[in-house]
Amino acid sequence: MSENHLPTAELQALDAAHHLHPFTDGDELNTKGARIITRAHGVYLTDSDGIEILDGMAGLWCVNIGYGREEMAEVAARQMRQLSFYNTFFQTSHPPAIHLAAKLAEIVPGDLNHVFFNGSGSDSNDTNLRMVRVYWALKGKPEKSVVISRWNGYHGSTMGAASLGGMKGMHKQGGLPIPGIAHINQPDWWSEGGDMTPEEFGLMRARELEEKILEIGEDKVAAFIAEPVQGAGGVIVPPDSYWPEIRRILDKYGILFIADEVICGFGRTGNWFGSQTFDLRPDIMTIAKGLSSGYLPIGGSMVSDEVARVVNSDEFAHGYTYSAHPVAAAVALENLRIMQDEKIVDTVRSDTGPYLKAKWEALAKHPMVGEAKIVGMMASIALTPDKASRAKFAAKEGTVGLICRERCFANNLVMRHVGDRMIISPPLVISRAEIDLLIERARKALDETYEKVQAQGMWEAAQA
Ligand SMILES: *Cc1c(COP(=O)(O)O)cnc(C)c1O
Repeated sequence: MSENHLPTAELQALDAAHHLHPFTDGDELNTKGARIITRAHGVYLTDSDGIEILDGMAGLWCVNIGYGREEMAEVAARQMRQLSFYNTFFQTSHPPAIHLAAKLAEIVPGDLNHVFFNGSGSDSNDTNLRMVRVYWALKGKPEKSVVISRWNGYHGSTMGAASLGGMKGMHKQGGLPIPGIAHINQPDWWSEGGDMTPEEFGLMRARELEEKILEIGEDKVAAFIAEPVQGAGGVIVPPDSYWPEIRRILDKYGILFIADEVICGFGRTGNWFGSQTFDLRPDIMTIAKGLSSGYLPIGGSMVSDEVARVVNSDEFAHGYTYSAHPVAAAVALENLRIMQDEKIVDTVRSDTGPYLKAKWEALAKHPMVGEAKIVGMMASIALTPDKASRAKFAAKEGTVGLICRERCFANNLVMRHVGDRMIISPPLVISRAEIDLLIERARKALDETYEKVQAQGMWEAAQA
């Protein structure tokens, strides 16, 4: 083997001894050992044993232009030599920050012409939480401070961002949510829609926003935050009736809308932003992940002319050492250049996206797949023992999903599970031939999961 590293077992032992993994049961992982990824190119990862894995998740929804682009490494090296770091706190700025801010103002829709740079998506939502409160305070309405968000939304992992999120498993740990945040139910028709049509259900769930505003008091609500399509929650695509009704309610009560585009932004939904795909017209937009295709950490809060005007009227006592890090900014700018020059978003919208959609939706014919959902290049399937009643499995939620994920991994495909939903979000540069391979491996994994679930006596629906 040409790799200049320790044998896999030794790497695993050191990892187990010293490395605490995010969102992981450490003891469980350490007894079996982590799979060690040593390199990546295009849509493929290579592990420490030299095996190639098709990355159906683009890392963590972020590697939009694919792995290993030489130009990105060149730009990073050049920027490090020229200006490796400087801050933008004390009345200074630098070309990478300036050019990236201007480029973002050009590609982000509407009048979101201003950006506050952050280190990540979580940081960005913490910025947003403080900024909307500062905005209303500066307008003489400091009591407008509650932010409404959704159960099973994901907005990051810091105290603020995880509180905005609606992941109950996260709230159970560390005293979350913090005060001043209220949650409404998600538009997940498959699991929660009961006997309603998707359209009826979408309207009902959107109207919960209005009910919540009235319950809290319109004069106390600062903002509503939501992902255009819930990503980590399981790629939940709302019914068509949902977003127009949400928009109507936000307009009626004059509440700021934060669209969390950390996943949906930068081409994922087949347009530059999910806000365009669903006509959301937000006041603030959270960006990260695809902004740099994950080559370096960087995030941002894009804000409207009006929000910028108000926030600029006083000192916003907020910022991170790495806000507008010059190397990260230069790399993000190069990422956007590549996306524009190579027309990556157009290709997703008019060629590879529809190609994947046809094959993905055909998975719904598999005996254990209920619905198949896809927007651009984010997609999900619901596993079920009974399609007609949209039943859950009798086994604990996530048991079957985990089996399926393991069968995918064994077939050299990264596909994630959220409960018993399987999700993908491949690099946007995935080719038709690579889509064929992804679908072939997914089918094989589904077949193997089906066999295993039957063999273990788990082909049984939960009591409704
Ligand atoms: C990943 C994610 C975040 C958090 O971003 P980090 O860079 O992990 O802090 C926030 N919102 C959404 C929608 C995400 O998917």
